[in-house]
Amino acid sequence: MLPSGSTPTPTGWVRLYPINYRDLATDDHFAKYDIVSVDAKPARQDQRRESWKPIIDTMVREAHLPPWQKRRQLLDPHIEDSMCRLNRQVRDQPNAPSLALIRPARIDDLVVTPGRPWSPSEQRKIDTYVNQFDLLNDRKRTPLEAPRFKATYHYRCDDPQCKGHQQGVLDWELVGVPAQTT
Ligand SMILES: [Zn+2]
Repeated sequence: MLPSGSTPTPTGWVRLYPINYRDLATDDHFAKYDIVSVDAKPARQDQRRESWKPIIDTMVREAHLPPWQKRRQLLDPHIEDSMCRLNRQVRDQPNAPSLALIRPARIDDLVVTPGRPWSPSEQRKIDTYVNQFDLLNDRKRTPLEAPRFKATYHYRCDDPQCKGHQQGVLDWELVGVPAQTT
């Protein structure tokens, strides 16, 4: 998300891809709710309007937002109540928003099941990435481990016709492998 800051900069959602987080120097790691600045180009491979390709070398950590008042100032204006309406927009308009913050009317369940190993094609992609020789970066690449869990929210939105939604949780802190501590 782009912060508003002191000038009236418009805010909105952006999808930055790719970011090879584990390849960043430790000093360049960022955390949830960090404010970063980064130059980015529109993503050529992804037509969704929020998708940008970051120029990683330009990324700078500016600050960290403490819980929760300062976070809510940025997030609250972007809360949507109807996932059904967003789904209808995506169906009807190619340029409809593809990212949103949804406030569920009711959460029915959070289903957590064991993760599955990578498929052969996923494993091949990871192996290819790990074995690529990078002239500009001599850090050893480590393979991404398969998620430990699969987690899915079941909820209803505020739409009177809502029949319920199921959405996977991609938060690596929940489904991923804990970081090694030294
Ligand atoms: Zn709904």
